[in-house]
Amino acid sequence: RQCADRVRATESNACRVVTVVSAMAGVTDTLLELAEAAAAGNRAAKHTLLGNLRARHERTADELGSAGAVHQILDRLETLVSGIAAVGELTPRSRDAVAAFGELLSAELMVSVVDGHAVSGSEAGITTDDRFGEAEPLMNLSLYEVKEALLSRVTDGERIVVTGFNGATQHGIVTTLGRGGSDYTATVLGAALSADEIWIWSDVDGLMTADPRIVSDARLLQSINFAEALEMGQFGAKSMHPRALEPAAEHKIPVRMRNTFNPACTGTHITAAEASGEPVRAVLLVGDSALVTVAGAAMIGRPGTAARVFQVLAEESVNIRMISQSVSEAGISFAIPDRQLAPAQAALEAKLLRPGDARQINVLQDAAIVAAVGSGMHGTPGVAARVFGAIAKKGINIAAIAQGSSEFSICFVVERDAGPDAVRVLHTEFGLAG
Ligand code: ASP
Ligand code: MG
Repeated sequence: RQCADRVRATESNACRVVTVVSAMAGVTDTLLELAEAAAAGNRAAKHTLLGNLRARHERTADELGSAGAVHQILDRLETLVSGIAAVGELTPRSRDAVAAFGELLSAELMVSVVDGHAVSGSEAGITTDDRFGEAEPLMNLSLYEVKEALLSRVTDGERIVVTGFNGATQHGIVTTLGRGGSDYTATVLGAALSADEIWIWSDVDGLMTADPRIVSDARLLQSINFAEALEMGQFGAKSMHPRALEPAAEHKIPVRMRNTFNPACTGTHITAAEASGEPVRAVLLVGDSALVTVAGAAMIGRPGTAARVFQVLAEESVNIRMISQSVSEAGISFAIPDRQLAPAQAALEAKLLRPGDARQINVLQDAAIVAAVGSGMHGTPGVAARVFGAIAKKGINIAAIAQGSSEFSICFVVERDAGPDAVRVLHTEFGLAG
């Protein structure tokens, strides 16, 4: 009801609103569990999970006075899940078919309060590749299809509620855009319809100068630019889908991050503005990291070494967060999520450790990455000196350093215990508390 009020309030400002809904809290997780339980032949779990989903949505639908469509969707879900149970096999494709139901259900619920029309991701024109679970919209095609499907309906004054997170391949097979994908749906729609603004409602006020659990005087960032937001997103600073900002940035459509539970707060405005005068806007920490160094003189001057190291990691689906290599080329260091350390290390040892190749694989197990982010550092001398000067003065040892050539951030690795102190030192050094 609160979301519906928000839609109406915005419309009364002579705006047209297209609404994108995500699933209710926890529903996507339950659906994925349900799909696993069905495939594994766990009838009791399947029964309980389906019952939970039914109860929750039907109770909500009853309260909103909209039971009909929700019952039907739940019946379709049950049929699908029974099919999976009968075959006893869960494919990526059938998993996506199940996962997409959360948004189908909440779209019906939303429609009943705003008095509009529910449109599935595929009907809305979100056309993707077939990497089920992490499908990527075929961008040009999607932009075209969305415009064809929705623009005239929207300008005619129809209220449209689109199911976030899901799309379909060119053959009409349902796909999902990866966890948190409703944000991505919203920015693709916004770009296709040339929206004036895209608002992402979540449960945080917006982007902060630092994690308030680490820095007590961390501040909400009123506005930042796309380059900074993208950089911060890489460090997990926001609860947003990692690729969601791209369509908005490309089409220069401002994004506003808002808090559903604190609508009075105007949130963070992400715009195509130039860099502000400040070199550093935020200091971020990625705690759960490990630093791996692959070293050996035989690597020097040998093209293809980095390719082989990263190929091995790619084969293990290891996500690399940061890379650095000294000019001597005798070693490559990279930071990865610590839960991926064991498989990464085993694979590197098995495939690279031999005479005439890598000689050593060293690991710093409990590491953290600290990042100072700000597009104003681009072309400004002395920012790195201030970062590392402040860290040195605090007596914190730095294990590796990286700066992208975009010059929008400076990152370094420290021992995990020193991470929070490093963040606080930099937050103070750059006067971010305001
Ligand atoms: N419901 C999906 C998820 O939980 C998509 C979203 O929340 O945006 O990941
Ligand atoms: Mg969600």
